[in-house]
Amino acid sequence: MARFLITSALPYINGIKHLGNLAGSQLPADVYGRFRRAQGHEVLLICATDEHGTPAELAAAEAGQDVRTYCDEQHVLQKRVGEAFGLSWDWFGRSSNPPNHRLTQHFCEVLEDRGYIEERTDRMIYSVDDKRFLPDRYVEGTCPICSHPKARGDQCDNCGSLLDPVELIEPYSVISGSRNLEIRETRHLYLLQSKLQDEIRAWIDTKAVDWPHLTRSIAYKHLDEGLIDRGITRDLSWGVPVTRGGFPRPGFEDKVFYVWFDAPIEYIAATVEWSDATGQDWRRWWRLDAGAEDLTYVQFMGKDNVAFHTVSFPATLIGSGEPWKRVDVLKSLNWLNWYGGKFSTSQKRGVFMDQALELLPADVWRWYLSANAPEGSDTAFTWEQFQATVNKDLADVFGNFVNRIVKFAESRCGGVVPEGGEPGPVEEKLYADVSAALADLTAQMEAIEIRKSAAALRALWVLGNEYLQVAAPWTAIKTDPERAAVVVRTGLNLAALFARAAHPFIPDATAKVAAALGMDWAGPWPSSDARVELSLLPPGRPVASPEVLFKKVEDAQVAEWTERFGGAE
Ligand SMILES: [Zn+2]
Repeated sequence: MARFLITSALPYINGIKHLGNLAGSQLPADVYGRFRRAQGHEVLLICATDEHGTPAELAAAEAGQDVRTYCDEQHVLQKRVGEAFGLSWDWFGRSSNPPNHRLTQHFCEVLEDRGYIEERTDRMIYSVDDKRFLPDRYVEGTCPICSHPKARGDQCDNCGSLLDPVELIEPYSVISGSRNLEIRETRHLYLLQSKLQDEIRAWIDTKAVDWPHLTRSIAYKHLDEGLIDRGITRDLSWGVPVTRGGFPRPGFEDKVFYVWFDAPIEYIAATVEWSDATGQDWRRWWRLDAGAEDLTYVQFMGKDNVAFHTVSFPATLIGSGEPWKRVDVLKSLNWLNWYGGKFSTSQKRGVFMDQALELLPADVWRWYLSANAPEGSDTAFTWEQFQATVNKDLADVFGNFVNRIVKFAESRCGGVVPEGGEPGPVEEKLYADVSAALADLTAQMEAIEIRKSAAALRALWVLGNEYLQVAAPWTAIKTDPERAAVVVRTGLNLAALFARAAHPFIPDATAKVAAALGMDWAGPWPSSDARVELSLLPPGRPVASPEVLFKKVEDAQVAEWTERFGGAE
C-alpha cells in the first residue's frame, strides 16, 4: 500500500464555479483520488477556498456585505455544490483560517532569516479621495497597449496584456470613480526568486521527466526567461497580516500578504485544519522529517496556475530550508471552452455547477467532463456533443447492458445469480479481451490520462454488449438451460465488474448497480485477471433491477438549454 497526497487548485471565493473550472482541476483530482483509494492505497484529498485578494473584496462590496461574511457564505455554498458533485475531499478548508495565517507568517520569517526577503520601495497609485492605495484590480483605466478604455490594473481583458497599475492611461478608482489619483511611494516585501533560480531548476530537472508535456514546457519557459523577484505584500486590509516575531511588522500595519503568496500555503494549512478536526497527524503528509518522504504528492490544476506551482510555491518551500514535501506529479489541463469562447465567472458565461445539477444528475456531468477532459488541447463544450456522449456511452452502452442482464435474470432465472454449467470458448475469449481491457484501463488511470481512461472504460463496457450478442442467453434458455446459466452468471459478473471499474467516474450510478447485485460497495479496483473478476458473484445470490440508470437527453431538452444558456452564436 502506498500513500497519495492529492490537491486540486483552490477555487477562488467569488461565486460558484463553472463547469470549465470543475473539468480543469477538481473533477480529475477526484476521479484519480477515488481510483487510488479503490486500489487500497491511503489517500488524502485536499482542497479549500482561496479567499484573499482584491476580487474577494470587490465581490463582497458588490454584494453589500463585509468581506468576512461574504467569504463565510460563499465557502459554504462552494462546499455544498462540490459535495453534490461527488467531490470526495478529505478536507475542504479555507485560506482565511488561522493555520494559513500562522504558516504564511512563518514562511515569510524563515525566508527573511535566510536572506530571501527584502524590503523595497514601490511606486503605487494612491487615491486621495479614498485615502488608500489602489492595488491590482482597484484601479482601471485605458490600456497602454490596445487603448481599451476599461483595462484593469493587473491585466487588460481586451488584449490580455499583464499590466502594472501605474502604466494605465487616465486611471480611476474602482471604489469611488475618482480620478484624483497620485503616485506615491510605499514599502513592500519582495521574495528574491532570482537568488533561488538555480536550486529551483535543479529540483525541476529531477522531477520534470514525470510531468506531462504541458507542465514541463511552462515550467522551463519561466526558468529560461529568468525568475524575477516578486512583491509578496499588498496595501489591503483583508488577508494575512504581515508580522515579524509575532507582532505587526513596523511600517506594514496596513498591509497584508499577496494572495498568490498565501494561497498555495493553504494546501499545507488545510491539512492542518483536517488534522485539528480529526486528530490525525498532518506532519506525516508534509514533513520529510515526519514520514512524508515515502508518499507521492500529485497536484491538479489548469494551465494558468502552473507557473505558480512549479516556480513560485517551490521557491517558498525551497527557500525556507525546511524539509517540506514538494510536488511529485503536476497534472495540468488545458481549457474547457464554452463553444468558441471562454467560460467566465465574472461575465456569467456558460453553465455553472449549481445550474448543472438542476438539469441532470452529477454522474452525467462527471462522465461527459472526463470523457472530454481538456488534456491534449483546449476542448469546446457543445450541447450536441454533450447529448451524443451521454446517450451513447451512459444510456446505450453501460446503462442498457446492466438493465438488460439484470432484468433477464429476474424474469428468467428466478431473480438470482444462476448456478450450473461450465464456461466455454466464448467465455475464454471474453476473459482474454476483458483482461486486456482492464490492464489498459488501469495503466491509463495510473498515468492520470483521464480522457484515455474514459475511452478504455467505454471499450470495456462494449465487450459486455458484444458478449451478450454472441452468447445470446435468450436463445440458450429455450434449448440449453446450463448454457444459459453460464451466460447470465457471466453477464451479471460483467455488470458488477463494470460498476467497480466505473466507480471513480460515476459513483452514484455504480453504487446503485452494486446494490442491485447485492454488493456492499462498487470497489475494490479489479485486477487484470478477468477469470477471477468474472466469478465473484456467488450463485444463488438474489439480484434486483436498479431503477433506470441513465435517461437519454432529448432533443427538446437540448433546445431548451441552448435557449437558456446560449450556445452556437
Ligand atoms: Zn489592452
